[in-house]
Amino acid sequence: MKDISQKDLENNLKLVVSATGDFKVENKNFFKEKNDFMVIAGPCRVESLEQMERIAQKIKELGLKFIRAGAFKPCTFPYASVGLKEEGLKIIKKVADKYGLISVTEVMAIDQIEMSSQYIDVFQIGARNMQNYDLLEAIGKTGKPVLLKRHPGASLRDLLGAAEWLLFLGCKYLILCERGIAAPHTHDSNNRWLLDIEIVPAVKRITKIPIILDVSHSSGTRDFVPYLSTAVAGSGADGLMIEVHPQPDQSQSDKDQIIDLDEFSRLTNKVKKIANILEKKVV
Ligand code: PEP
Ligand code: MN
Repeated sequence: MKDISQKDLENNLKLVVSATGDFKVENKNFFKEKNDFMVIAGPCRVESLEQMERIAQKIKELGLKFIRAGAFKPCTFPYASVGLKEEGLKIIKKVADKYGLISVTEVMAIDQIEMSSQYIDVFQIGARNMQNYDLLEAIGKTGKPVLLKRHPGASLRDLLGAAEWLLFLGCKYLILCERGIAAPHTHDSNNRWLLDIEIVPAVKRITKIPIILDVSHSSGTRDFVPYLSTAVAGSGADGLMIEVHPQPDQSQSDKDQIIDLDEFSRLTNKVKKIANILEKKVV
């Protein structure tokens, strides 16, 4: 906690420090229990109803409760499609409602919020927008549950500062998500970012707000994902985020990191065993 002072804890992070850690999605009747380990899985982006159906069925079969998918996509280069937008949101809602799942999707701009809130249950604030304070304000004011991702260059103090903003502005239910940090020796080698698993005890020292880890965007590497998932399950985190697709090689984005549905089943079953040892329940 070298970068977070006592003064920060008392004056700047008051709401983060006093947060109860409750996470509720009231419209889906979901109340996170203290020992719930949330697996938030789904494709990088919504591509079709058929793709989302197959994924949602698998999530349901595994007894999980969340589905993630992007309809607005932040892309590194301008040549990929930027997402199905409202059509994608409609598909997410359709399958989430059919299978009784909680949907999580990223919004990147203020003008996407009102329309998205009719279709989805949890707003994701992506790594790139962690400190977009106008966006935080507009999302915070909706009062909807939020999943806040950490920017790869952000310190814990920066992340918790953004969380404080959301709580200050009216967000009641928040999940923090680590998704890999910029670190020496990670770039141009096998993986993209370094998954900062130490953030789990560091966050737990300060706040009860749930912390999950994204094992897909951190490594960017498909065969790393099962290793990282079991590590996260054993870390004391409150969950993980993972990208899955019925045909990963056909995925329109992030195909190098996406696992197929059989691998997803195997990995979830391992995660359940580890969670069991830690007296946690995978949801
Ligand atoms: C995502 O989860 O779809 C995503 C784009 O992640 P990040 O913001 O962590 O890059
Ligand atoms: Mn992705």
